[in-house]
Amino acid sequence: MARIKIDYDKCTGCRLCELICSLQHIENTFNPKRSRIGVFIEGDTFFPVIAGPYTDAECTAKTSVSIGGKEYDSCVLCRASCPAKPIFKEPDTGIPLKCDFCGQPPDPQCVKVCLSGALTFVE
Ligand code: SF4
Ligand code: SF4
Repeated sequence: MARIKIDYDKCTGCRLCELICSLQHIENTFNPKRSRIGVFIEGDTFFPVIAGPYTDAECTAKTSVSIGGKEYDSCVLCRASCPAKPIFKEPDTGIPLKCDFCGQPPDPQCVKVCLSGALTFVE
């Protein structure tokens, strides 16, 4: 299974990953609040956290909405069951955000801009 490995010791807190993620998903938008990766600070250590996969809560996919030409499920059960639920949601709609590896085939932009090597794509 594809995933992004995080090496916290290497993160410099530059937050380029947050910016490129929002730009990747919403045209002309550099906004960490719309990113699927967030960098948190505890003491002098930075903790990048990627949105999803969430818990095993059943996805009912009852409804969907379109944002920027993409369809999103808006039932939010996954977010309700996710310990990170206040973090990763569309600020305007509350729709949960989840890392999609920047498309298929995966092309993780956050990994590309992470010059410190804190993020590594592994399959
Ligand atoms: S781009 Fe890499 S080094 Fe910069 S904040 Fe993100 S994970 Fe950390
Ligand atoms: S792989 Fe893409 S969608 Fe996932 S956190 Fe990185 S930039 Fe965002």
